[in-house]
Amino acid sequence: VTLNKPSILIVDDDAEMRRTLSSTLRTKGYQPFAAKTGVKGLSLIGQNEFNVAIIDLQLPDISGLEVLDRVKTVSPFTEIVILTGHATLASAVKATNNGVFSYLQKPCQIEQLLLHIRRAIERQRSEKMIRHIAYYDPLTELPNRMLFNERLQQAISEAHRHDQSIAIMLLDLDRFQVINDTYEHETGDRLIQVVAQRLKSIVRECDTVARLGGDEFLLIFPFLKSAQEATDLARRITKLFNESFVLESCEIYITASIGISIYPTDGVDPPTLIKNADGSMYFAKGQGGNTFQFYSPALDFKRLTQLTLGNSLRKALAQNDLLLHYQPQIDLSSGKIFGAEALVRWQHREWGLIPPEEFVALAEDIGLIIPIGKVIMQQAFSQMKMWRDDGLKLDQIAVNLSVMQFKGKNLIATISKLLKACGVDPALLELEITESIIMQNPEETIATIRKLRSLGISFAIDDFGTGYSSLKYLKYLPAGRLKIAKCFIDGILTDSNDRTIVKTIINLAHNLGMRVIAEGVETVEQLEFLRCHGCDEVQGFLFSRPLPADELKRLCEEEYTQFYNCGPERSEA
Ligand code: C2E
Ligand code: MG
Ligand code: MG
Repeated sequence: VTLNKPSILIVDDDAEMRRTLSSTLRTKGYQPFAAKTGVKGLSLIGQNEFNVAIIDLQLPDISGLEVLDRVKTVSPFTEIVILTGHATLASAVKATNNGVFSYLQKPCQIEQLLLHIRRAIERQRSEKMIRHIAYYDPLTELPNRMLFNERLQQAISEAHRHDQSIAIMLLDLDRFQVINDTYEHETGDRLIQVVAQRLKSIVRECDTVARLGGDEFLLIFPFLKSAQEATDLARRITKLFNESFVLESCEIYITASIGISIYPTDGVDPPTLIKNADGSMYFAKGQGGNTFQFYSPALDFKRLTQLTLGNSLRKALAQNDLLLHYQPQIDLSSGKIFGAEALVRWQHREWGLIPPEEFVALAEDIGLIIPIGKVIMQQAFSQMKMWRDDGLKLDQIAVNLSVMQFKGKNLIATISKLLKACGVDPALLELEITESIIMQNPEETIATIRKLRSLGISFAIDDFGTGYSSLKYLKYLPAGRLKIAKCFIDGILTDSNDRTIVKTIINLAHNLGMRVIAEGVETVEQLEFLRCHGCDEVQGFLFSRPLPADELKRLCEEEYTQFYNCGPERSEA
């Protein structure tokens, strides 16, 4: 079938009819195909998609009505014109009920027939357009939720017949809100388009990539051979996000979280499969994003569906259910606690204490991290004020900042206002930022850090070694402290690479005039290694877990008496 020329199928056993009609259609710019029997007609229908089929009801082999039925199922967009010499009321009713475009009687003026063909083609075009609007997402041209549901239903029927499996994946971009808050609205849209293209580029013809709206995509992979195949697919999709997205105005690094459900194990109907993929996706997010999670009935959905969790987090904020624990930071040269890192917890009224790993990413996703961050700072600052007023000799309180807080427009004003309100000297505050914050927009970040520094606030780079940080920026970074990521400390005793990395980070920091603190120190052996290689400070379970404020106070007081009793060489109690 040639493009642009509408194709017309004629199924008629009258040879003269086929001949004249074909030649007329050809001269009028159509592309005619003719079949003498119903069976021949059906085989043509299987091969091409016709714009219009002109069908005679009296055929030598099968009835025209049967042909009509088949056309409607195989090629639903083909418009049908019945042209019959034996019109009966019954056949007319049946044909009309089957959605034929028109029902004409022979003999029929060729002009009249041509008029019907023209109109049929017009109707087909407008129906296609309407269908496109109803079924496709205008931003990405991907199928929308409605078409996704239809495709999934089809895939399920097919899989049911042939005893096959299907993987359904729900993909949600991580911290997309940050992009929207940071850049123009168009940049977010453009990013969604490019993500859509990238997703489409790796799927097969028979797969479906649909956009649910926002930053959510749904994928269908039919004919699944094994769970391993789904794992491989999910890995490939995750990998798509390793490379940055280069847009006209900027370059963006973004990751995605994927939830996977499998037909028929995890559900046999679209709503269940989608719900299970969706819930699993939030588990992937709960693990920090940039990963995938298969559905399992063991996943505690009640606790993690975004709606409940998001809503209860909002409530928690309003009811003051967020609290801080403080982990002491120890100076290795004196053996003294010099500071404390504030780490947020959610004291849930039913579920107990929830660690930050389970809700900070969510808070970022639903735009709650800015108010939560404010509450955290408020608490940390007033605690610091109380401690100092009580005579506790803590030199600093360290507070973690999320990417979004850092990109928010009011960070500097918020912090200085809060410090003033709480009566805390800015020199007592250290802000911890991760490498990924810096790398998202190095110039601007460095400028903001400089401004905060000029107020007297200091900075630490958290989880150093795990981000994409380029050393090129490190030397411009006005940070006073590097925190070696726990994963390297974990490997100190077993992995020579980790030892090399730790030594290198220590040297690097010292060469740049920074102090180095190791976090996650759990054993005496790790401590010894760090001490030997000149690490300045440590933090970890070996000394203390993060503690409620009053316990930290007690520890500090105890530590001073112990320190006076035993001197710097005190053993690990
Ligand atoms: P982080 O800033 O790197 O904090 C260190 C994490 O390591 C803390 O986990 C701490 O409890 C844990 N840790 C410390 N020493 C040890 C050790 O010896 N062994 C082990 N296994 N773990 C140790 P936590 O409190 O669950 O916090 C996790 C992460 O959540 C933090 O990583 C930080 O990125 C984020 N976070 C915590 N509080 C806040 C906050 O107030 N605001 C923001 N934006 N993020 C926060
Ligand atoms: Mg930290
Ligand atoms: Mg850390």
